[in-house]
Amino acid sequence: MARIFLLIILGYLLYQVLKRMAASADSKPNAKSEENLEEKPEERIVQCANCGCHVPISESQIKNNKILCNNPECQQNQSTKK
Ligand SMILES: [Zn+2]
Repeated sequence: MARIFLLIILGYLLYQVLKRMAASADSKPNAKSEENLEEKPEERIVQCANCGCHVPISESQIKNNKILCNNPECQQNQSTKK
């Protein structure tokens, strides 16, 4: 008899949790997408000092205090100029 009572309580709690999850998922789609954007502070766009193209900071390299993209031409030109 105690088992049945326990099962009823567990079922009720599970129902409440599922109801809350469904409600929060439905009511805040915008907040979730905004959080995803703020989770990537390192993925800023920077401008290559040589060719001027814009690349994510993770795909750029810094040489002689200048930001260069991954293009080998840019890095070669930078090294041959000076
Ligand atoms: Zn470049």
